[in-house]
Amino acid sequence: MTDDQPSRPAHVPLAGVIGMPIAHSRSPRLHGHWLQRCGIAGHYIPMPVMPEHLTEALRALPRLGFVGVNVTIPHKEAVLTLADSVTDRAALIGAANTLIFRPDGKIHADNTDGYGFIANLRQNAPDWQTDAGPAAVIGAGGAARAVVASLLDSGVKEVRITNRTRIRSEQIKAEFGARLVVYDWAQAGNMLDGAATVVNATSLGMEGKQPLRLPLDALSPDALVTDLVYTPLMTPFLADAQARGCRVVDGLGMLLHQAAPGFERWFGRRPEVDDDLRRAVLE
Ligand code: NAP
Repeated sequence: MTDDQPSRPAHVPLAGVIGMPIAHSRSPRLHGHWLQRCGIAGHYIPMPVMPEHLTEALRALPRLGFVGVNVTIPHKEAVLTLADSVTDRAALIGAANTLIFRPDGKIHADNTDGYGFIANLRQNAPDWQTDAGPAAVIGAGGAARAVVASLLDSGVKEVRITNRTRIRSEQIKAEFGARLVVYDWAQAGNMLDGAATVVNATSLGMEGKQPLRLPLDALSPDALVTDLVYTPLMTPFLADAQARGCRVVDGLGMLLHQAAPGFERWFGRRPEVDDDLRRAVLE
């Protein structure tokens, strides 16, 4: 073994989440529930890491017995440049939320947000069809990029996108291609006409923030409407859509499902996303 290769102590596996701030993260409760349910003697630890300490932290964690970490704001983009390998989807999205520390010390970066988004819809709206019609995505931040990638990957033929800052949705179109159609923010209501799937991928509607209010006249009651915001579970946008007769799916399931691939890679067991987990995370 050379000095560059971390020796992994043979003790209980450690994983965690790095970000700043980190105190609000629900991931420790989520993974803690799975560890307990699966009877695995591991630990999942929230770790506040300042941007200037990111490189140092990623060097140290594998040496301390960590098998990987989740990554949240503000490190999701920066970790791509520090990882030794990056999945195609993380590269396309431009951000990673899951790191795997390999026994040889190499860091593998992935983005599971898009997987979590689709798995949530499949679990909570089992008859949802990707070929039912265009999808409309509101927002063009990091989470929207993951949603757009997963919708295209799942076979949705047309993905419409709108964002307050138009240049960001133009950028997504430039990177993701011809199946994207950009709408002006002032015309967001028009984007809903004929949409079979509608997604709020902005942070509007979060507790303490103003709600997302769009003219919903063009929204079909047959559309499936979902929100990435999960505090509160029933956002004003979802409540408005439900009042029009739409099926709605809240954003908590995305959070739960995006965590499963990391848990499986780190701890060797595919965990269940079920009502018990939802309750544990909401406690
Ligand atoms: P982000 O990169 O900071 O993007 C924020 C988005 O919200 C941008 O499109 C931004 O538009 C828009 N926005 C913010 N304030 C606005 C306002 N006052 N009016 C109009 N648009 C506004 O954040 P993100 O990482 O994409 O996350 C977006 C949301 O998804 C957050 O609430 C996050 O918690 C949630 N999320 C949930 C999950 C889950 O598992 N359920 C996973 C990831 C993220 P501009 O570009 O114009 O600023």
